[in-house]
Amino acid sequence: MRLTFWGAARQVTGSMHLLETGAARILLDCGLMQGHRAEANERNAHLPFDAATLDAVLLSHAHVDHCGNLPTLVKNGFTGDIIATPATCDLTRIMLLDSAKIQEQDVAYLNKKRALRGETPLTPLYTRPDAENAIRNLTARAYERWFDLPKARGRVRFLDAGHILGSAITHIELTENGAPLRFGFSGDLGVKDKLILRDPAPAPPLDYLILEGTYGDRLHEAPRSSEVALARVIQETTERGGKTIIPAFALDRTQEIVYSIHRSIQAGALAPLPVFVDSPLAMDATEIYRLHSEVFDAETVAFMERHEDPFGFRQLTYTRNVEASKALNDLTGPAVIIASNGMVEAGRILHHVKNNIQDRRNTILFVGYQAENTLGRRLVDGAKHARILGEEYPVRARIERVDGFSAHADRKGLLEWVRPFAAQLKGVFVVHAEPDAAAALIQGLRDLGIPNAIAPAYGQQIVCN
Ligand SMILES: [Zn+2]
Repeated sequence: MRLTFWGAARQVTGSMHLLETGAARILLDCGLMQGHRAEANERNAHLPFDAATLDAVLLSHAHVDHCGNLPTLVKNGFTGDIIATPATCDLTRIMLLDSAKIQEQDVAYLNKKRALRGETPLTPLYTRPDAENAIRNLTARAYERWFDLPKARGRVRFLDAGHILGSAITHIELTENGAPLRFGFSGDLGVKDKLILRDPAPAPPLDYLILEGTYGDRLHEAPRSSEVALARVIQETTERGGKTIIPAFALDRTQEIVYSIHRSIQAGALAPLPVFVDSPLAMDATEIYRLHSEVFDAETVAFMERHEDPFGFRQLTYTRNVEASKALNDLTGPAVIIASNGMVEAGRILHHVKNNIQDRRNTILFVGYQAENTLGRRLVDGAKHARILGEEYPVRARIERVDGFSAHADRKGLLEWVRPFAAQLKGVFVVHAEPDAAAALIQGLRDLGIPNAIAPAYGQQIVCN
């Protein structure tokens, strides 16, 4: 078996790895690379292999850095199955259509400027019809069910990764040169006791593993203490007569925050107040969460038996159209507004932060990771002024953060997941991690007695036998 690392190699986006065995060429994920525009555009538009020669894609989950370049793959001649769990298939559908819309809008905006300068127009990475073509190749396989690896002497199954709805660990058993070989890809590995989802499944015994390492050098707060902190910040803001503005990504984090607020109100930890989710994509994603309660944990299922809908309660309103979103500017009195994106870089959240940042009664509450060079990061770092949609504003609202809502296992979670079968592992390839996080995780893996733990470089090939 040969692995080639074509993305998320010493960085956290663009997950894509090629697995070749016998006559089979299987792609693990096909994510969008994000970050510096020119480099990302170049990498996303030019696939490093002939897409038509691939036999299948095994897709770990629906985040765009894992599924977002599937339309480019299909546009370039891929005709095989894109295999994922049923919930991932459903979520991938809305994520790809949303991504196509963003690609088209970004290029339309740039082309307006280019036309003024007499420059030739750009074409989008892909369009809605390309996304629709990719969606037609999605093929669902339930957790735990073995299926044949196309064109190879082997079988595959998905195990629960506990990261977002439908997320999977990929487990492959092969025969290579007459000998058995066991391989795993963690995908993005989730967190124990995370709201809504079951814990990640224990890892099966493996010979080789591709392991994500986003937080290979960090430890998280417990999810339960984050729920308490979230309710406390909202309650304090309410008592000042202010609004709580929560930037949150539409997929997973928004559903988690809504459910958490619902639980706090039910438990009496938070006085009922108006809550708005201002994001069409979050509405669509929430509908898909509601369709897939088969993957919820026992606690969420019990909650549903008592209160029906974790993602809906009397004071909660989802706003889809632009008029309803704008009407939120005229709200008086305490409320919570949740909108995306989570790092305040784009989307409706920009308007809500702009409208509320100058009032000392209000709070901007961060519930996720803030990457460098984002407005979210500058606010968390204590900026006194913020430039939003071309204008400068003084920061008078309180800036708070609650850290424990991560969807990724921390250093301890990653190492504990590997520990039970560490002695059998012949190799671990750390991906989806910045260099410092990867180096720290590799040291931890070596301490577990796995000498062959490395962070492969972009394009590196490794033969496993
Ligand atoms: Zn993910």
